[in-house]
Formats: sequence, structure tokens, C-alpha cells
Amino acid sequence: MSRLVLKFGGTSVGDVDRIRNVAAKVKAVADAGNEVAVVVSAMAGTTDQLVGLVRDIDPRGDLREYDVVVSAGEQISVGLLAIALQSLGCRARSWLGWQLPVRCDSAHGAARILGIDADAVVTAMANGDIAVVPGFQGVSPDGRVTTLGRGGSDTSAVALAAAVGADRCDIYTDVDGVYTCDPRIVTRARKLDRITYEEMLEMASQGAKVLQTRSVVMALKHRVPIQVLSSFADVPGTLVVDEEDIVEDETISGIAYAPGEAKITLVRVADRPGVAASIFGPLANAGVNVDMIVQNVSEDGKSTDVTFTVGRDDVARALKVIEGVRDEIEYERVQADPDVVKISVIGVGMRSHAGVAHTMFRALAEKGINIQTITTSEIKISVLIAEDYKELALRTLHTAYGLDA
Ligand code: ASP
Ligand code: MG
Repeated sequence: MSRLVLKFGGTSVGDVDRIRNVAAKVKAVADAGNEVAVVVSAMAGTTDQLVGLVRDIDPRGDLREYDVVVSAGEQISVGLLAIALQSLGCRARSWLGWQLPVRCDSAHGAARILGIDADAVVTAMANGDIAVVPGFQGVSPDGRVTTLGRGGSDTSAVALAAAVGADRCDIYTDVDGVYTCDPRIVTRARKLDRITYEEMLEMASQGAKVLQTRSVVMALKHRVPIQVLSSFADVPGTLVVDEEDIVEDETISGIAYAPGEAKITLVRVADRPGVAASIFGPLANAGVNVDMIVQNVSEDGKSTDVTFTVGRDDVARALKVIEGVRDEIEYERVQADPDVVKISVIGVGMRSHAGVAHTMFRALAEKGINIQTITTSEIKISVLIAEDYKELALRTLHTAYGLDA
């Protein structure tokens, strides 16, 4: 017998038939002798619709009221799922975020979970009742409804799993696991049986959309094993676990890509203390999120080139900020290139294997793909290349690292 938190996303509860299908799955898990709590998202499309209603009245409307409106989608899905479970003969009840409560900070629209008072859920589970809890919503310290930011239900589920001391958090979604690469591009991509938290974190933040990054951070912090699996097919998914729970030692676990980035280069920036701070401080203050940063060695000791990437939507804002600090950092000119993509190879095995970077660079070179920028971390190598080569690069690297099915 295990204590499990099951999470179902918006597509999985997209209509009444699908809600019945979810209820049947939950019942099967409970009937197998497990203690079960369920976290659900709003029915697909509902949150978008609610956000649209708020925007139609006032795009800059009070965020506390925005949260009251957009949290409503999850209120509907928890109630419907509880009814569907009851109609199958299960004892089930729903709680809203404020009722447990799911305690959050007061950053409305993007709240962080501080803790969940899960006594009621634990008692229900221990009695063999099925607790149904909404994702995405919580309550602020002053008692107002909050939401966690779009896609926040994964984080709700992992937080609940941590709070009830669950053995595992099963995230049911519309894909059947985590793949070595996006299967829509690389048809020979393989589903992974297991992946480490750290690798998943890199995959999630590098563009693989299976799990919300924050949920993986939460799982890593509380050591909650996650399983990603399909709500439509009855097959085992991918387990996200500690490194010591992984037996086979693959050097590279996956290849991710981050589209929608743009490269900005400052040519011949003054080479003296404080210049980087003068560039990236104002960018941060303007809310521009910077990803890769590369600074060259200065040839003459007087000036150097600085390259960094930002989201494509932020290019205009970034250029305006850079223009504003021109006198301070004395650059010669600035270049922006929006037609780039970042490709990352990810794997904890990199720590103990030599030649991983060389394999990447050689494989790309053989296809005539020019690498514009390189950055690395302990378990990741990322390159920036022209966007036109994205698909070729992903397939080439997938083969080069022996990941093809
Ligand atoms: N319903 C919310 C959204 O669409 C939360 C979630 O689905 O995770 O963003
Ligand atoms: Mg959603």
C-alpha cells in the first residue's frame, strides 16, 4: 500500500467524459489498496477564458480580483471530479485552496506556496476517502484568494505530496512520459524510464514542457519522487528520482531546445570593473530576463565583446535599456539577432565522462552547423545556433549520443 497524490492536467479533465475517465483511473488506484489524494487543473481552455474576461474589462485590473476570477476554473473541476467519483461508489470530497488552507505569499497572480495544512487530507486518506484538491490556488496571509501563475497545478500537486508525506506524486498528462528529445521533431526519440531531478530541472527550464520547472524544484527540495504518465494510455511513465536511484549510467539523458530566444551582442564594450554590472543591472530592473551571457577576453585590454540572450519579446525593451547606458559603458555598436535557437544536451553522466562536448561540436561541424555561443554547467552543454538548423541539429545530436530508438 502506498500513499499517492495523483495530478490531472486540463486536457485530462477537458470534458465530462474525460472527467469520468479520470474518476475511473483514480478509483482503480484506490481499489488497489492505496491512499489517494487528487489534484486537478481547470478544464482545458477555462483558465484562458477567465483571463480573457479580466483583460476585456481592464488589462491592469486589481490582481487580487484577477485571482478570484481565474481560480474559479479549478473550483469547477474539483467539484465535478468529486461527483464523478461518488457516482462510481467512491467516498470523495473536495476542498478549495483556502479551506485547507494552501498557504501562499501575497504575490497575487504569481504566488509561492509557503506550506499546506494537510491534516484534513491526511485524515480523509487514512479513512479510505479520496481527497480532491484544486491546483493553482491558495490563500494569502491576509486571507485573500491567490493563484500560483499559469501552469501552477504541477507545483500544487508536488507541494501536497510533500505535505502529506506521499510515497510518490503521479502527474497524469497528455504525453506518456519524458522523452530523450521532442518526439515531434526527432521521431526516434525514446521514452526515459527514469531521470534525475537535476536533469529534469534542466530539461524543464530548457524548453521541454512536460513539467513546470517550479514543481521540479519543489520535488527536489522535498525529495518527492514524481512519475509523469499518460491519462489516456495505460502504460508506465517516467520516474523523476534521486541520482542514486538510477542504475544504468547514460552519459546524456536528453536534448532540449529553447526557441523564442534572441541574441544581443555589444561590440567593443569598455573593459573595466563595473561594466557588466552597468549592463545587467538596468536590464534586470527593466524586468528583462537574461539567459546565456558570454564575455570575450579583451585583445587590447581596453575593450571586449559581450553577448547575451533574452526572450524574443524582450528584444525591443533590452535595446532601449542598452541605449540608455551607452555613455556609461562606451560600446561601439549593438547587434540583435532573433533567429537563433538554444540547443542543450543534458546528463549527470557528463560529470564522469570525458569528451561529451567534443562529440557535440564534431557532430554539428560535420553537418556544417555554425556554433555562435557555448555555455556549460556541470550537467549541461548549450549552444546557440541559427534557428533554421534546429531540426537537423536535434536529430544529428540524438544520433551522435546514441539515443536513437
Ligand atoms: N489552470 C491553470 C492554468 O491553466 C493551472 C494549470 O493548469 O496548471 O494555467
Ligand atoms: Mg493548464
